Amino acid sequence: MKIPFTDLETIESIITDVPTPFHLYDEKGIRNKARALNKAFSWNKGFKEYFAVKATPTPAILNILKEENCGLDCATQTELIMSHRLGFKDVMFSSNNTPAKEYAYAKEIGATINLDAYEMISFVEEMVGLPETVSLRYNPGGVFALGTDIMDNPEESKFGMTHQQILKGFEKLAKKGVQHFGLHSFLASNTVTNDYYPELAKQLFQLAVEIKEKTGVRLDFINLSGGVGVNYKPDEEANDIAKIGKGVQKVFQDILEPNGLGDVSIFTELGRFMLAPHGALITKVVHRKETYRHYVGVDASAVNLLRPAMYGSYHHITNLTNSNGKLEKVDVVGSLCENNDKFAKERSLEEARVGDILYIHDTGAHGFSMGYQYNGRLRSAEVLLQENGKYRLIRRAEKPEDYFATIEGFEF
Ligand SMILES: *Cc1c(COP(=O)(O)O)cnc(C)c1O
Repeated sequence: MKIPFTDLETIESIITDVPTPFHLYDEKGIRNKARALNKAFSWNKGFKEYFAVKATPTPAILNILKEENCGLDCATQTELIMSHRLGFKDVMFSSNNTPAKEYAYAKEIGATINLDAYEMISFVEEMVGLPETVSLRYNPGGVFALGTDIMDNPEESKFGMTHQQILKGFEKLAKKGVQHFGLHSFLASNTVTNDYYPELAKQLFQLAVEIKEKTGVRLDFINLSGGVGVNYKPDEEANDIAKIGKGVQKVFQDILEPNGLGDVSIFTELGRFMLAPHGALITKVVHRKETYRHYVGVDASAVNLLRPAMYGSYHHITNLTNSNGKLEKVDVVGSLCENNDKFAKERSLEEARVGDILYIHDTGAHGFSMGYQYNGRLRSAEVLLQENGKYRLIRRAEKPEDYFATIEGFEF
């Protein structure tokens, strides 16, 4: 079962003020999630979540996470600028294929630089000078499996450096006077299992011991990065962060503590897990169409939520206006001149009539942020449902002026 975090009445009152479509976020859910994560890792003294800005680059949301003791993870200068202006002190720069000026800016604002490539060690040294703290991103190659389940394919991933490069890299950094060291790895995306982090941690903890033995470098932190997923589908079970935290603690006690590395800090860079369930895309049915299939046309389109069109991702849909209506099999579509502009294909949905309000679940991460402006369809508003029950507009919808603003040589 997928249950909306709010009700029709609340959404109808927002719509009188903010027209559909818009992304709606649940402050209470976000705070509770951050607290549950911090509690699950409270056994580790230096624990810190660096929320992946790319998932939801919206200042009002980032500020909530700041109040809940989270830092931010950035991959570009623009994200770094946002983090810095919002007053974040704990900023990770986990970028790849990075221009020198972005490293310079990261260094200037005191972000922790996480190098994606062995080659970047000398690049950063030459271009901006190595900072006091450097983290290296590991890619073990092969496949990442839990038992017999293949979760992802690191061998095909452009990210990270090989086992040999990691060892050589830390040796080189130590020789060049770097004082503090971190290890980072992201091996599987959107995992719906409590075993991903513990298995990843096991591999990284073993590597940390090997790094200490072979290079003499003692890591200050190990960054488990993102990849803990959410139950997009109604038959999936949500990850249990308390269990995940315990699983990581067990391998920490088994591997790091006996090897004199019990003071290593654990970091995470979760995006999806933190935010996805606490956002929804609210859209209205504007047309019906009957041909070889039954079509429900809504006022949102793939520009507001790209995941279904891009990855074929499932996002559950609830018809808030007709939640007990009879089920029918429909395609829920936007208005782009692209046939992949479908939020659902042959989905069993409560009968959707023109004017009904649909709630598209789990859009709080990689939802608004992946938006674009194809066909001159513009980015939507974002609204925060506050803990006190009141709502607040946190980003207005784009207007045609915004679309025309960067064009040179023409006035519209
Ligand atoms: C995208 C990303 C994350 C967040 O991933 P989620 O799947 O949203 O948790 C974390 N770290 C890095 C380096 C990323 O690129």
